[in-house]
Amino acid sequence: MHDTTDKQANGIQANSMDAFESEGRVSAPDRPERVEGLAETGACGSTSAPRTANSPPFRLNPNGIEANLVDIAAKRIFAARVFWSAGVIERIDELGGEHPDWPYLMPGLVDAHVHIESSLLPPTEFARLAVRHGTVATVSDPHEIANVLGVEGVRWMLGNAAKTPFQILFGAPSCVPATGFETAGAVLGVAEIETLLATPGVGYLSEVMNFPGVLAGDADLLGKIAAAKRRGLPVDGHAPGLSGAAAAAYAAAGISSDHECSTLAEAEDKLRAGMMILIREGSAARNFAVR
Ligand SMILES: [Zn+2]
Repeated sequence: MHDTTDKQANGIQANSMDAFESEGRVSAPDRPERVEGLAETGACGSTSAPRTANSPPFRLNPNGIEANLVDIAAKRIFAARVFWSAGVIERIDELGGEHPDWPYLMPGLVDAHVHIESSLLPPTEFARLAVRHGTVATVSDPHEIANVLGVEGVRWMLGNAAKTPFQILFGAPSCVPATGFETAGAVLGVAEIETLLATPGVGYLSEVMNFPGVLAGDADLLGKIAAAKRRGLPVDGHAPGLSGAAAAAYAAAGISSDHECSTLAEAEDKLRAGMMILIREGSAARNFAVR
């Protein structure tokens, strides 16, 4: 909830204003610009299905939204008035128990690792569908399009993503092509990575899948990691099955996260090496069960 952005908050506000005005209860003197996408799907983070003409409106009072707040941390739902200013939530007043006629408000989800191109949709369409399921932001590696179109493809993703209020943080793809045996459409070397890391909207070096290369001291790979480190940017990891001293050496190369752990022992080894662990549990991978 605290990382609500201007655009997301404006999305809530714009939509709430619409709902309120349609009932003739309030005029909006400083009405924010309408935000495409979020306005269509209802306020971001609403637990309900996309809003329809019959959905209950958010109650505006006048700077706060009144709704049933889904408190994820405390695992409870209560009626609340949420106040914001300049796109940031300032205060939440608890109003009592859950109100059966009020809509629901909950923080948006952030997908910590996704390749948007794998959905076969451009970022704007991905965003339109993801927000309906409560996801308002992603950390995205555009290495699929980079394998086809290189830097130009990543730039296209950035340009398209800029057209939606959905927040997408892109990385510079570290392993294009994924292996030397591929006949990819492009090769991203250190120079291309430097270019991408200097591009607004690119915030990290994305998954370093060539972990044997890291452990073998591959100069090209270490050059890409060094380029991110020089800018103070994080380096995302991908090292399935790595444990013990090998996991420690991989982390020591400057890689700070991993999303490939499939056993508890592997995750604990990487945690001991100082890495952050992302646990995947969904249709693509089921890593949450402790083994
Ligand atoms: Zn991966």
